[in-house]
Amino acid sequence: MKVTEHIEKANGKALFSFEILPPLKGQNIEGIYNTIDPLMEFKPPFVDVTYHREEYVYKTHKNGLLEKTVTRKRPGTVGICAAIMHKYKIDAVPHIICGGFTKQDTEDALIDLDFLGIDNVLVLRGDPIKSEKRFTPEPNGHAYAIDLMEQVKNLNEGIYLDEDLKYNSPTDFCIGVAGYPEKHFEAPNMKNDLYWLKKKVENGAEYIVTQMFFDNSRFFEFERQCREAGINVPIIPGLKPLSTERQLSLLPQIFHLDLPDALVDEVNKAKSKDAIRQIGVEWCIEQSKELIKNGSPVLHYYSMGKSKNIQKIARAVF
Ligand SMILES: Cc1cc2nc3c(=O)[nH]c(=O)nc-3n(C[C@H](O)[C@H](O)[C@H](O)COP(=O)(O)OP(=O)(O)OC[C@H]3O[C@@H](n4cnc5c(N)ncnc54)[C@H](O)[C@@H]3O)c2cc1C
Repeated sequence: MKVTEHIEKANGKALFSFEILPPLKGQNIEGIYNTIDPLMEFKPPFVDVTYHREEYVYKTHKNGLLEKTVTRKRPGTVGICAAIMHKYKIDAVPHIICGGFTKQDTEDALIDLDFLGIDNVLVLRGDPIKSEKRFTPEPNGHAYAIDLMEQVKNLNEGIYLDEDLKYNSPTDFCIGVAGYPEKHFEAPNMKNDLYWLKKKVENGAEYIVTQMFFDNSRFFEFERQCREAGINVPIIPGLKPLSTERQLSLLPQIFHLDLPDALVDEVNKAKSKDAIRQIGVEWCIEQSKELIKNGSPVLHYYSMGKSKNIQKIARAVF
C-alpha cells in the first residue's frame, strides 16, 4: 500500500514508522530482524531502508604501496526490503539515490522494485562520496532528486528509456522526498531550499520526510512556511533520540542541525552514559507528543540499527 493511503486510512491517528540501515557487508540479516522485532508491537505500516553508495577505501600493502579500491560497505537495500515484506507483511520503502546510478541503472533498479511489489520509493539525490566535498552525478545520471523523480514518474506513465520497447507496462510508485526544517546545507537560504522542495511536490512528490531535528519550533516554522508556499502534501517529521555525549558535536556536523540549549545543558550536566541516554529518550518523547498534538500524520524514527531507545519512546507515545 502507498504511504499516502496508510495516512488516509489512519483517519487522523498518528502512525509510527522508522528507518533502518542495511548491515555492514559481511554481517547477516539477523541484526535487521533484531532491530525490527521489538518495534513491531507499535504496528508500523511501513519501514524505510536506506541506500548507501560506494566509498573509496585505501589499503596499505606489505610492500608499502597504497591501493585505492571502491566498495559499498552497506549493500542489500533491495534484498532487505523484500525480506521485510515477506517476514513482517508490512510495506518496505527503499531509498533510491542519484549518486552512482546511470539512468539505465535506475530504470533496472525500479523494474526490480516493481516486480517485488514495492509501492513506495523515497527519492533522494544522495550525499557526495565520503571523501569528496561536492556531489558529482554519474555521466548519464541525475544531478538532483527532482530529475530522478521525473524518471520514476515517467515509468509510472509507462515511459521507459528505450522508446522502441514492444511492451511498456507502467509502474505505480508513490514518491516521497526529503525536506529540511533547518535548511539543506548546500542551499543558499531557506527560501531557495523551499523553492526546490515545492518544485519536487509540483512535479509529483506525494509526501515529505524531514531530516531529524531536536527543536520542534524549527519544524513548526518549516511546516508553516511549506503551507504558505503552497506545499500541501503530508510532512512526516524525522526524529532521533540523542544517545551519547559525542553526538552533541557529531549530529550538527553530519546533519547540519542545531541542538537546543536546554538539551545540551542537560547532557552536559549528566553524570553517566545511562543518564545521557535517558535524557535523549525523554526529550524525544516530549517532541513526539507535541508533534502528535500538532497533527503530524506519522512520526518517523531514525533507528540507526538500534531499537531499544525507540521502543521506550514508542511505549510512551503510541
Ligand atoms: C529523510 C531522509 C532520508 C535520507 N536517506 C538517504 C539515503 O538513504 N542515502 C543517502 O545517500 N542519503 C540519504 N539522505 C541524505 C540526502 O541524500 C542528502 O541530504 C543530500 O545531500 C540531498 O538530498 P535531497 O534528495 O534532499 O536533494 P535535492 O532535493 O536534489 O536537493 C539538494 C540541494 O540542491 C538544491 N536543489 C534541488 N533541486 C535543484 C535544482 N534542480 N537546481 C538547483 N538546486 C537544486 C536544494 O535546495 C538542496 O540544497 C537522506 C536525507 C533525508 C532527509
